[in-house]
Amino acid sequence: MNDCIFCKIIAGEIPSKKLYEDELCLAFYDIQPLAPQHFLVIPKEHLTGANKIDANNAAVVGHIFAVIAKLTAQLNFSDGYRVVTNCGEDAGQTVKHLHFHVLGGKQLGSFN
Ligand code: AMP
Ligand code: ZN
Repeated sequence: MNDCIFCKIIAGEIPSKKLYEDELCLAFYDIQPLAPQHFLVIPKEHLTGANKIDANNAAVVGHIFAVIAKLTAQLNFSDGYRVVTNCGEDAGQTVKHLHFHVLGGKQLGSFN
């Protein structure tokens, strides 16, 4: 995906504040944090959003949640965290590469 900003981050063409990387995913800090702790985890495979998860590619989602559990423990998110993925226009998705926001470091408001 030539014009995808997150694919460019994976390729190292755009700098990021990287937290973690393996063969399947990359974690890096969000450039506009919405909480004291806010990072993103993305699959290296370009999927445009959560609506493109299917039986063939779903394993990466479980892997990403395991990575999130490890990273939040390392970063001392001791009072909890929230994982969010925005999918499509109504959810306000701005980057069309599947990503999971991980937010913590404060009492997060309820949402509805
Ligand atoms: P969403 O609105 O759910 O699509 O989230 C996209 C997120 O990507 C936003 O929170 C942005 O701040 C973040 N973002 C966009 N460009 C970059 C970048 N170059 N490095 C880090 N985070 C970014
Ligand atoms: Zn991409």
